[in-house]
Amino acid sequence: MTAPVPADVLSRLKAVLGESGWSQDPARLAPKLVEWRDRWQGTTPFLALPKTTADVAGVVGVCFEAGVPITIQGGNTGLVGGQIPQGEILLSTERLAAIRDIDPFDDVIVAEAGVTLAAVHEAAARHRRRFPLGLASEGSATVGGVVSTNAGGTQVLRYGTARQLVLGLEAVLPNGEVWNGLKRLRKDNTGYDLKQLLIGAEGTLGVVTAASLKLFPLTTSRATAIAGLPSAEAAVRLLARAKEEAGGAVEAFELMSRIGVEFALKNIPGQRDPLEGVHPWYVLIEIAAGESGSAESAMERLLAGALESGLAQDAAVAQTEAQAGAFWSLRENQSAAQKSEGATWKHDVAVPVAEVANFLREAGEAVQRFAPGCRICAFGHVGDGNIHYDVLRPDGGDDAAHAARREEGSRIVHDIVHRLGGSISAEHGLGAMKTAEALRYKSPAEVAAQRAIRQALDPKRIMNPRVLF
Ligand SMILES: Cc1cc2nc3c(=O)[nH]c(=O)nc-3n(C[C@H](O)[C@H](O)[C@H](O)COP(=O)(O)OP(=O)(O)OC[C@H]3O[C@@H](n4cnc5c(N)ncnc54)[C@H](O)[C@@H]3O)c2cc1C
Repeated sequence: MTAPVPADVLSRLKAVLGESGWSQDPARLAPKLVEWRDRWQGTTPFLALPKTTADVAGVVGVCFEAGVPITIQGGNTGLVGGQIPQGEILLSTERLAAIRDIDPFDDVIVAEAGVTLAAVHEAAARHRRRFPLGLASEGSATVGGVVSTNAGGTQVLRYGTARQLVLGLEAVLPNGEVWNGLKRLRKDNTGYDLKQLLIGAEGTLGVVTAASLKLFPLTTSRATAIAGLPSAEAAVRLLARAKEEAGGAVEAFELMSRIGVEFALKNIPGQRDPLEGVHPWYVLIEIAAGESGSAESAMERLLAGALESGLAQDAAVAQTEAQAGAFWSLRENQSAAQKSEGATWKHDVAVPVAEVANFLREAGEAVQRFAPGCRICAFGHVGDGNIHYDVLRPDGGDDAAHAARREEGSRIVHDIVHRLGGSISAEHGLGAMKTAEALRYKSPAEVAAQRAIRQALDPKRIMNPRVLF
């Protein structure tokens, strides 16, 4: 737990922020001190609610001078505990909520850190553009959070993660200095790329206050389908075919297992079994293109070939937007559907796409040996090799006993991932939760370089001090 914040620092912060710019009201603070999975419970003496970049600079400047640590919070949808304070000042970006500009010639939107991803999508659509980063949490997740976690989501296959979608940033560095790097350039080879350092830094190198984000034209032709498959190998082979059939137009290729579909049918109201029979695996495929009808015909060719060759056992193409929405709802509820099923060890791992099936087989065997009867619910962005690999306690088993074995069980999964050349955190970051685990797999040279960068920019380690190395 962080040391108590001196009273004179609190007075100075109140003066910087003005009457409406802070709170110590327990009811106002409460929702910001718990997170989505209820795994972290936080505490803070002071909630800073800056409205402008200058306010943020004022808060960070006071804290830097006094050596008082800060935790930054956007939409509070992070899954690794980085946004939950343990005694630090809590700096929320909720009032940094303006869309500063949107320009269809440069194909750019400039949004402040606290703007939600959903609001970015809506603003882009009003200008017949799209920002192709989609998360199930997009109604709450913010621009600052998405940038700082280098979020991925369902369209990485085609458009990349946040890292590929940010053109420029504005940020307050740990010493309180404002860096205005809000460029909208596609090319800028002028030395180290500070914005790339801040992307994925999880708030350890400064507060992102605004970002300029790449926009894309709307796609007029879109086809969404679900296919039932005999094996995970078939999913990887079908992905390769989909890429060939549709050129670069495959937007999403998402894996679900039968048990995940069953959890959704049982625990989430309004869900329907997408196909008539029962299949060990399912993939949700989305193809989108500019030319009218071309996505639909690519999807038809792909599925006809897959059914004929036995790669797919059955498939359904969405005939309406509502049906496509239902397919997506099944996928997006894979995590929520497990909530009432008891204790879970959750993993957000990546392996090379060609190793996905090997990973699922090896991890499945090893985990079942370690915890017989556990229920493995694997789903996710198979097109990126990113699997959310959740291990639930046996049906009717004991939650506490399962939770107590989490560390050992996760070690088994992570060791396999590492051996296959993968990552133990594909898209959620390390936060406060996975840093120690990541240290087991990172090379000493890489850890030393990361620590040196942090030390240079934040010598007092005031920014998100419990996060990363
Ligand atoms: C249902 C659900 C589905 C999800 N699906 C995905 C998915 O598909 N892909 C994916 O990548 N993630 C996913 N996530 C995780 C989460 O939504 C993302 O990590 C998101 O980017 C976090 O944004 P946020 O605004 O909520 O950030 P927060 O949770 O508030 O913060 C996350 C981290 O970023 C830091 N931070 C926040 N704002 C700033 C800022 N302005 N400057 C500096 N640091 C900052 C925080 O200190 C913290 O370390 C999902 C989460 C949920 C609950």
